[in-house]
Amino acid sequence: MIWYPYQQMKTMKPPYEIVDAQGVWLKTRDKEMIDSVSSWWSVIHGYKHPALNEAIKSQADRFSHVMLGGLTHEPVRKLSEKLQSWLPGDLDYCFFSDSGSVAVEVSLKMALQYYVNRGEWKRTKVLSLAHAYHGDTFKTMEVGDDEDYHFILEAYGEKKDVIHIPTRIPQLEAAFGQYHEQLNCLIVEPLLQGAGGMRMYDIAFLKRARELCDQYGVLLIFDEVATGFGRTGNRFVADKVLPDILVLGKALTGGYIGHAVTVANKKVFQGFYGDSAEKALMHGPTFMGNALACSVALRSIELFEQENYMEKIRRIEEITRREMKGFSDPRVREVRIMGGCVCLEVHEGDVLKGFQQFAYERGVFSRPFLNYLYAMVPYIITEGELVQVLDTMKAWFYGR
Ligand SMILES: *Cc1c(COP(=O)(O)O)cnc(C)c1O
Repeated sequence: MIWYPYQQMKTMKPPYEIVDAQGVWLKTRDKEMIDSVSSWWSVIHGYKHPALNEAIKSQADRFSHVMLGGLTHEPVRKLSEKLQSWLPGDLDYCFFSDSGSVAVEVSLKMALQYYVNRGEWKRTKVLSLAHAYHGDTFKTMEVGDDEDYHFILEAYGEKKDVIHIPTRIPQLEAAFGQYHEQLNCLIVEPLLQGAGGMRMYDIAFLKRARELCDQYGVLLIFDEVATGFGRTGNRFVADKVLPDILVLGKALTGGYIGHAVTVANKKVFQGFYGDSAEKALMHGPTFMGNALACSVALRSIELFEQENYMEKIRRIEEITRREMKGFSDPRVREVRIMGGCVCLEVHEGDVLKGFQQFAYERGVFSRPFLNYLYAMVPYIITEGELVQVLDTMKAWFYGR
């Protein structure tokens, strides 16, 4: 039997079975619905995109996978070259893996070993944010901060190597003042914290973080697994404030195949480079650099550039602001909008019970969690389809 994610299997409501999908539309046997979640924020070009399908098919006709241990191939080379030229600054060194969680693990391992390689064994601590989410593997749970996902860690007692701070500059400065000699990195989801509740914060925090990291020689990691590829209205937040390590996942392959990448700058790469074997990065996911994933990722980035996706995202934000203007309800605590993300936070999570079925009946797939009702739509959505999604969210409150 299938063991579903984040669910009590005894009481969960049966999932909708998808038999086909096209554009923004998911199809069950008797219904079509707009995917307002983009399959966990990844399917930015929509489903069954002809160019992406073609990229996968033509690569499958050559080979689908070979390992990167001792072997290499054109799709992984082309994708890393593309990322090197497309990403800002000297974020040039691409370490691939099969999921966002693993890619975050790799970034944390890099940051720790960067200092160990220099003989600095005391820098074992990580600074991270309150309400952070960085994945579901153990170290990512530890740097994350969400009891609802990760209460299991309480079994180990206090987290000694991670310090969590709110997204406020005074607390940031205080944490650096107190811990800078022990810190190897600061890891953040820049501007938009996704699974921790679609929390948005100001770029000034990141600018100050960059200064403090420079001042104290601490590495700055951006986990852009969710925010990358335009979701915040920036191509990457890294375009605005340059991290030392950037992690990408989710939309990297247009949502076609699980794949992720940890991209290091020259300074970090140089920390591993040399004649001694012990200084190598000891990591190697079986499916890293998978040829189907790399082919479809490369094509996805080409589409993103050629079809001016940043303009599409600006339009989505504009329509969303227009449609949400004047919306208020006593049960809604706040409406937050940034780029291709809109979130209605309610005072009581119970208010959202039943919304999924309500939306389904109106031709929209949605998956609210805790106190958050949100949409992160595929960027190819039409105005009419987007209005349908937003109307459905508003109608839940107006009609009741
Ligand atoms: C989803 C997510 C991850 C984990 O990615 P997986 O592919 O699910 O392992 C890590 N960081 C952020 C910010 C995410 O949103």
